[in-house]
Amino acid sequence: MTAEAAAPSHILRQGAESAETTFGGGGALPVPRADDLIPLYLPVLGAAEQQAAAAALADGWLGIGPLTGRFERELGAFLGLRPDRHLVSTSSCTSALHLAALTAGIGPGAEVICPSFTYVAGHQAMSATGADVVFCDIDPKTLTVDPASVRSVITPRTRAIQVVHYAGVPADLDAIHAIAAEHDLRVIEDAAHAFGSSSRGRAIGSFGDLVCFSFGPVKMITSLEGGAVVSPRVEDVQLLHELRLIGVTADTDARYARQRMWEYDVVRQGYRYHLGSLPAAIGLAQLAQVDAFIANRRSYCRQYDAGLSDLDGVEPMAVAWDEIAPYMYVLRLRDASLRAGFMAHLRGLGVATGVHYMGGHTFTHYRECQRADLSVTETVAEQVVTLPLHSFMTEQTRERVIAAVRSYFS
Ligand SMILES: *Cc1c(COP(=O)(O)O)cnc(C)c1O
Repeated sequence: MTAEAAAPSHILRQGAESAETTFGGGGALPVPRADDLIPLYLPVLGAAEQQAAAAALADGWLGIGPLTGRFERELGAFLGLRPDRHLVSTSSCTSALHLAALTAGIGPGAEVICPSFTYVAGHQAMSATGADVVFCDIDPKTLTVDPASVRSVITPRTRAIQVVHYAGVPADLDAIHAIAAEHDLRVIEDAAHAFGSSSRGRAIGSFGDLVCFSFGPVKMITSLEGGAVVSPRVEDVQLLHELRLIGVTADTDARYARQRMWEYDVVRQGYRYHLGSLPAAIGLAQLAQVDAFIANRRSYCRQYDAGLSDLDGVEPMAVAWDEIAPYMYVLRLRDASLRAGFMAHLRGLGVATGVHYMGGHTFTHYRECQRADLSVTETVAEQVVTLPLHSFMTEQTRERVIAAVRSYFS
């Protein structure tokens, strides 16, 4: 149903571009041909990433290394982390979420309240600890967790609230942190969509509790696979280093300095969750361009809004994009029964679409989980359609998407 695997096999050079599109990478750009399917996602991988990858391979130090340390420092600088916040890179956001839950002491017998309306990676990361996932509903405007719904499912076993900044739109963190303070709960932010987003002037990750990012293939920046967890507790750093390196102590700093310790202890159950040098190199090349990626995506979302908001049949997300680093552009169809036909119509015109998300409570593995009233999730999950959004799109591509949507309703 989604076009995640449909990235074009060819890479073409950039054509004539409108003024608001900027590209910092140089070299070959991924531009879909006019007669091609416009994919849902299209990572921008140009000469900068290829050079960075080639240099990392030629260097030959492939595990955790100096590039891993540098990627962590530059991520921290981009997010504006103060010295009291600590970033540890991981192999993915799913592993970052798993480690965040473990550092929060979550395990068997605990309950974690999660929105049903999110990617199942978030649910999997919580249930991997042995904890029970408890589903809550979302706010119909922002499509992020509804604080009142969170309240409705708190029990004496609740240990944490997971929030998702859907499509890059920050959840109501002040309300969530207030509930957490009242009930002594940890807050785990799944910020896979929100790298570069801010909430009232504060970058996501730079405040709050445990915050997890994704650098997976289709995210704002990619290291092919990768992630990071930000913690407000300095004592978590060593724990996270051990957890991501199969329980081995005291080796991370040596590896950042291109060394390995041949005397170490293994102090806990750990996982193979580190970020190696090659993904770090690619992540660094991407991070150098992220301001342009965000600016382009914002302007494309505004263009989609302007081109679609007069249509009666669809409802764009009601957000001003000023503080948002948009990960996806999502429409809601007022008549959900049209969705399959709408998606087929766009596919026929060479425009891929996606569905983000089916409610987690509908999956076999999570059928028995406790849940709040999920009416908003049930409605919204049937209505949403994701349109193509890339960090670099030609004017012609954007106009083709808008024209394809409009043609369905005329
Ligand atoms: C992509 C994604 C994840 C998982 O990220 P990975 O880096 O692929 O593990 C988790 N949550 C959400 C909402 C996502 O979109």
